[in-house]
Amino acid sequence: MTAFAYDVALAQDPAEHRRPGAGPATGEAWALLEASGALAMRVDLQGHVLNATTATAELLVYPREYLLRTSVLDIIALESRERVTLMLAGCAQDHMARRERVRVAGGIGGPGWLDLHVSYYCDTDDDSPSLLLFGQDITQWVESERDLTERAFLDPLTGVGNRAYIGKRIEEYTSGNCAGQPFAVALMDLDGFKNINDSLGHEYGDALLKEVGARLQDTVRTRQSVARLGGDEFVLMLDGLESEADAVRILERVIHVCRQPFLLGGCQVRITTSIGLALSSGAAQSESQWLRRADLAMYEAKALGKNRYCIYSPELDRRLDEQFQIEQSMFEAVQNGEFLLHYQPIVWPGTGEICAVEALMRWEHAGRDIRPDVFIPVAEKNGLIKHLGAWALRCACAQLAAWDAQGIHVGHMSVNVSAMQFLHPGFYDSVRNAIQETGIGADRLLLEITESALMTDPKAAEELLLSLRALGIRFAVDDFGTGYSSLSYLRRFPLSALKVDRSFVSDMVDSPHARTIVSAVLSLARELGLVAIAEGVETDAQGKLLAAQGCNLVQGWRYARALAPVDFENAVTDGKLVIGEGEVFTPTVP
Ligand code: C2E
Ligand code: CA
Ligand code: CA
Repeated sequence: MTAFAYDVALAQDPAEHRRPGAGPATGEAWALLEASGALAMRVDLQGHVLNATTATAELLVYPREYLLRTSVLDIIALESRERVTLMLAGCAQDHMARRERVRVAGGIGGPGWLDLHVSYYCDTDDDSPSLLLFGQDITQWVESERDLTERAFLDPLTGVGNRAYIGKRIEEYTSGNCAGQPFAVALMDLDGFKNINDSLGHEYGDALLKEVGARLQDTVRTRQSVARLGGDEFVLMLDGLESEADAVRILERVIHVCRQPFLLGGCQVRITTSIGLALSSGAAQSESQWLRRADLAMYEAKALGKNRYCIYSPELDRRLDEQFQIEQSMFEAVQNGEFLLHYQPIVWPGTGEICAVEALMRWEHAGRDIRPDVFIPVAEKNGLIKHLGAWALRCACAQLAAWDAQGIHVGHMSVNVSAMQFLHPGFYDSVRNAIQETGIGADRLLLEITESALMTDPKAAEELLLSLRALGIRFAVDDFGTGYSSLSYLRRFPLSALKVDRSFVSDMVDSPHARTIVSAVLSLARELGLVAIAEGVETDAQGKLLAAQGCNLVQGWRYARALAPVDFENAVTDGKLVIGEGEVFTPTVP
């Protein structure tokens, strides 16, 4: 084409084109060019139009007379003007042809796109060199290309960005010059979205996701973008942050807007959201690293009770690693018999005499003790808890029988049951087998269950408790006061005891607030005919206060720590621990 444009220029009468605004072109090549309908111009080195084909005027929808009086820059859109200026100047200087995609300013036809070629032309007979411009209208092509690109990065359901868009934005950040400037990726998951999908149907679930997408877009600023990772997970990419506090403010707004009710099919629906935030740490990170960190923090937010945000820290990675190690060793530990039970006395507050013990699991691994707070959640996740729990039940019942045989009659055995274990279909059988195999009376077994385990599926829980109660088993609500807020379940389930959570006991001497809670829990237990057991009693003052408020039983380091069976037996033989006489589950308390 460049050669053709040269021909065209050569064919023109140079005298005609020396001045801006020269008359219509002549010559065979120019006529050919006119006939081809091509967009072609000849301009001087400053860009003043010397000649233009009729098609140029038609395509740009400018009168030809106007074109011949103007500079080519006047018909170029602002966004491309600098590029064209450089193109012309560059070509004028080094005589090398150039080609760019440029945007033209709107004539009557509106703005469009040209594939613009520029080449240098100097007729030997003519001392004033000029530039030849040849353009192809690529407006439609650019628009459909842009449309396709946009669609390739859009989530069709919500209209926010999609997974590919997340990759693109993070890539732009990490590969661009912005690395080192504050940038953050927030991953959010809607709490309880599955319930909405299950109970209202997918149509409403989709409508909710759309609305969430729209609310998020309203919440973030221009340099920040929203995308959907899939399902009910959204990702915010926060650019242009000044500080961590800036990101936190955005997350707080997001949590707030998501908490506002949604109108779905005439019903008001409320949800919350859990968010994990990964902030740029200076080091370049890949997309998967960003998302993994945000994901880890999001799971932490869920674990801390949902409806909140959590910021990634290396500590989270360390814990994950620890969990992984624990999980790896756990399977072998079961086979190697590394798990043990220790027993903590539960005593009468007045005399300190033992009326029951609580079995607490211990894991001695490679010379160190791993705490149940650490390994129980891991066992819950990998499913080992049902084996560990069944083992603990059998082991505790066998210990009770063994102590009976030794003349150490501890009254009741309390065993912790985790939510996962409780909800497992084999639970009923594991309890019944433990009693039958060890021959202890079912009325001597007390199972400690948390409120959340009971409330996950209250109907199933009720049936299970009733069937076990029919065997004679009793139940205590563990960590009472820390979980579910509804009290109506206390009447619904066949319960025998409430364990007042350690956190209230530890604060009660100094905090009137905690004292009020403890006294409210104790009178609640009294009214409902439940035995109240306070846990974590560490001081004499706490013990006295609890006794004065009418707490039935106490447990804690003030009386005894959890002991290995042999240590427990020695303490009893030495008279350091005294077994009491009274029966816990009768109204008469000694
Ligand atoms: P929990 O059921 O609330 O058990 C009471 C925890 O408080 C025990 O921690 C006990 O050692 C500790 N404790 C007792 N008295 C005091 C005191 O005066 N002060 C303080 N600060 N702490 C005291 P441990 O043994 O580390 O157990 C932690 C949790 O692990 C238990 O909390 C229970 O939820 C779970 N767990 C322990 N054994 C088992 C088990 O066999 N099965 C299941 N599912 N969970 C268990
Ligand atoms: Ca317990
Ligand atoms: Ca407890």
